[in-house]
Amino acid sequence: MTAEQFKSSNGYEIQGIWLPRVTSITNVISKPGLFYYYGNHKNFATAQAAMNGAADWGTLVHKSVEAILRGQGEKIDKKVLPTISAFEQWRDKYKTRILDIENDIEKRVDDFDNHYAGTLDVLMEINGDLGVLDIKTGTSIWDEHSLQLAAYMSAYNKNAPTKRKAKKRWILRLDQYEECEVCGAKRRNKTGNHRITGGERNCGHSFSDEKGTFEFKELSDFAYDLEGFLNAKNLWEWINKSHLKRIKNYSKNKKTLKLF
Ligand SMILES: [Zn+2]
Repeated sequence: MTAEQFKSSNGYEIQGIWLPRVTSITNVISKPGLFYYYGNHKNFATAQAAMNGAADWGTLVHKSVEAILRGQGEKIDKKVLPTISAFEQWRDKYKTRILDIENDIEKRVDDFDNHYAGTLDVLMEINGDLGVLDIKTGTSIWDEHSLQLAAYMSAYNKNAPTKRKAKKRWILRLDQYEECEVCGAKRRNKTGNHRITGGERNCGHSFSDEKGTFEFKELSDFAYDLEGFLNAKNLWEWINKSHLKRIKNYSKNKKTLKLF
């Protein structure tokens, strides 16, 4: 991999300075669930294809939610309608408000002191508190998501005016599936091929229409999570040291030069 390839797949260039992105950094964390996921596929290639399908699904859901938030609901792909209706149910349940529609959706944040950048999904008020909302489209919320959100919130707050500091972090997981009316197995078609989880293997299954659900979680222990993220960042640097050495405009390399 050339230095340029590494830069474009792992970070952002902001005002001529390169910063690694939050999601590249949190990728150093081992995900045992992923081994199980790969093991459940016929071979590596089908697992890989399913992963790509899931990533495309995630992108489609994010784009659709973004369109809804911007008041452009007519652009929604039929495939994600159950997910979007779950999103609407969630919005009906809480008092939500975006203070600045132009700038607070898909918001780029950066931290030049700790040398990273990222794009948070939505900065918004929920029941009167300003915070960072991240939308997930997998089958569960993973622990390291809290590190990702701590990184976003910390970077955002560094440059935010006192009155507009974020205080909360939330994960909203949106899901859709058909459910077996007999055994409760769930069949999802987000990855391009039907995948059944749970229930009884010998049931024969009688699946419902596709329905959407949401899971909403407020995260706690911000300081501890941020520490975890910064530790992950240190490990990420160690793993990528040979690439990072060659990136002249990496903010950390710049800083060293300033000492002379
Ligand atoms: Zn069944």
